Amino acid sequence: MGSIVPEVVSFAARNTKEVGDVLGIGADKRVKWAEGLLERGPVKGTIFYAGEMYPVMGYSEGAFKILKRVEGLMNINHLAKVGPIMRKLGIYTVGMNSLWGGINRRYEKALQDAVKVLRGLGVEIGFLFEDEPPSGVALHTYGLLREFQEHANWVHRRLKELGVKKIITLDPIVATAFRLYYPEFVPGWDVECYHFVEVVAERMAELGLKFDLGRRIKVTYHDPCYLARTLGVVDEVRFILSRIEGVELVEPERRGIFTGCSGDGGLELTQPPVARKVALDRVMELKKTGANLVLTSCPACILMLRTGFDFIGQRVGVEDLASLIAEAMARGSERVEGEVKNFKRYRVFPKSPHFDSLSLEDLSRVLKMETDRCKKCGFCNVECPTSKAMNRLESRSSRGRVTLINSLVSGDPVRPKEVLDRLYTCVLCGRCSQECPAGLHVQELIVYGRAYAIYSGTIP
Ligand code: SF4
Ligand code: SF4
Repeated sequence: MGSIVPEVVSFAARNTKEVGDVLGIGADKRVKWAEGLLERGPVKGTIFYAGEMYPVMGYSEGAFKILKRVEGLMNINHLAKVGPIMRKLGIYTVGMNSLWGGINRRYEKALQDAVKVLRGLGVEIGFLFEDEPPSGVALHTYGLLREFQEHANWVHRRLKELGVKKIITLDPIVATAFRLYYPEFVPGWDVECYHFVEVVAERMAELGLKFDLGRRIKVTYHDPCYLARTLGVVDEVRFILSRIEGVELVEPERRGIFTGCSGDGGLELTQPPVARKVALDRVMELKKTGANLVLTSCPACILMLRTGFDFIGQRVGVEDLASLIAEAMARGSERVEGEVKNFKRYRVFPKSPHFDSLSLEDLSRVLKMETDRCKKCGFCNVECPTSKAMNRLESRSSRGRVTLINSLVSGDPVRPKEVLDRLYTCVLCGRCSQECPAGLHVQELIVYGRAYAIYSGTIP
């Protein structure tokens, strides 16, 4: 297995900062899906926020196919080097389209479907088009926390200038950023954010709505880590599906807050073979349900699950839940008694560690204090998807990552390659934190460990 070369991290970070999305596709292409569908600017302070992933994920699919074909000859780091040159020459997007096998429009359709559903439920929303400031969540994921802090404060100022008070998004990673990371990094953050399924479930209950799909279908639902485990949104999805006539839901073994990872978490860029192995494990489990269609609510999960099914040569459809709701809604609805539902918000993780600042002193002090609490029990390793995908190597397990962070901040000699191979092969799924008897928020320690490794110069 090749080790991670840092070019891809700087490629993703540079594109996020300069162009607004990891692949560097650009705002003009990212907003095309909304033309003629949404009005410009917030409506009563509320916007639909597309984020950086849905509009570009169709390009990623092509990239993945190419990477698979050329594996062994070149990797994503080579493409990462070529990308900026192509962009400078003005042939970036055109080049990527032809090189990466064209754009899959399903992700943009999911955004359009989500808007239609929200509108159909009487939710008033506008869209910022090219003015939509990218959340910058990739900077957080890759551990560029100082850059993320600066970016997030700029985003807050932009949203205020544009009159945004409330965000509704289809992207659970963006929802996590606005709900959990922004309040931590932006003093006075006061913008509300909801995921699409929260708003839809609440409105369907309130209006007493039921839809009819007009056909019978057996579906399974893949809970995205960020939606179920991180934000604790689980029951809304089941409620929505129970209100669609014709849908039979068959649940996979790992579901809800104990969901299995699809192989996302930035890993599809940094370590495609590992990402594919994780995805494969998950699709085998989803296949066992006997469902004809897999639904989910995250663009990266759709991509990974489609890649996984492709890999095993199975033609199982993978679709965004928003698209199924839109299809059922378009066929008509019936009314039952309306009710106000208070959906349970699951709290899964231990308390987050508190960092006074992002100085090296504070980072190392808190990381040392936290990782010293590790009992070395290894309970976290059992369900770690990347540990499983990498033959249970201790160095690539949850415990191995915690141990490495401890060595790093204790001043023990640590090679850059070791940091990259261990810390950047984690998908940040959070499954480890659910099992830790010492109450360590492991995936958060990994993000801050990445930050320490970058700012201390351990990795270039
Ligand atoms: S270390 Fe934790 S967050 Fe990272 S892949 Fe393993 S279980 Fe997921
Ligand atoms: S479960 Fe917690 S205490 Fe046990 S090895 Fe993992 S991080 Fe350490």
